[in-house]
Amino acid sequence: MKIPFLTSGKSETAIDPVCGMTVETSNPGGGASTHDGNVYYFCGPGCKVAFEKDPEGYLSGEKSIDM
Ligand SMILES: [Zn+2]
Repeated sequence: MKIPFLTSGKSETAIDPVCGMTVETSNPGGGASTHDGNVYYFCGPGCKVAFEKDPEGYLSGEKSIDM
């Protein structure tokens, strides 16, 4: 199952897969990470670290983070 993080219409933003926030791809607060051929952007360093610990968990929706 493929989840469309990069939705059509808005080319300058992406959804942080950890917390669900909209992140500007030109200036992501938490940087970007490549996983399985896709690039993901993060609102902050904490989300990037959490994602890289368990990318499959967040992409599958099994995990989420409490803000
Ligand atoms: Zn985040």
